[in-house]
Amino acid sequence: MRPLIAGNWKMNGLSSSVREIEKLIGLLSGSVPDDRDILICPPATLIGLFATEFSDEGFAIGGQDCHAKASGPHTGDISAEMLADAGAAFVIVGHSERRADHGETDEAVRAKAEAAQRAGLVPIICVGETEAQRKAGKEKEIVGAQLAGSIPSGEGDYVIAYEPVWAIGTGLTPTTRDIAEMHAFIRAKVRDGVRVLYGGSVKPSNAEEILSIVNVHGALVGGASLKAEDFAAIIRAAK
Ligand code: PEP
Repeated sequence: MRPLIAGNWKMNGLSSSVREIEKLIGLLSGSVPDDRDILICPPATLIGLFATEFSDEGFAIGGQDCHAKASGPHTGDISAEMLADAGAAFVIVGHSERRADHGETDEAVRAKAEAAQRAGLVPIICVGETEAQRKAGKEKEIVGAQLAGSIPSGEGDYVIAYEPVWAIGTGLTPTTRDIAEMHAFIRAKVRDGVRVLYGGSVKPSNAEEILSIVNVHGALVGGASLKAEDFAAIIRAAK
């Protein structure tokens, strides 16, 4: 399956960050085979700018969240239609930081994923267990319930990102065996052709190993996607 390497910039980035993308393009020019998809999800304030400046550079732009409705009285929210209008092709939904900070339930995440598909975007649906849940041996039960509750029922395209909460921004990663086991579990629960990304402390030093695990079809990268050198190295590591 064609790998997808996605960068989640979270609440980082100003208009001056255009220079980081220019640096990334310079680092990748001529050295990245055309057999992988590259995605950058900057804060919403930069989507239009990045889409305008970099639409011909071979990578896609995505949002980090969307509202389930297309428009209406929801101050501060952004709809999937607005993201698409600004030039996005993907949107992350159900990231653990949103599930924790904004109390997003599986039902809310599914509504957002359906909204993304309605607007022509591909939702990247995030799932993953906490440290306590893994220690209790409940990781598959938790991830299985998140998948069952968050994936839209229709035929639309989507991507899954398995992101153990305890691995995000901590420098910790599951063992290769644990990643392989969880990805095989997820693979069995989604239809053929759905990409399953791994996310959680992916960096240049572990990218090749993680991206070569069976059933890992790419990565969702947080911190390391903010540095052009690191993100370029991770993109190159995809087979
Ligand atoms: C993320 O936030 O999606 C993520 C994977 O973060 P990091 O790579 O920094 O762990």
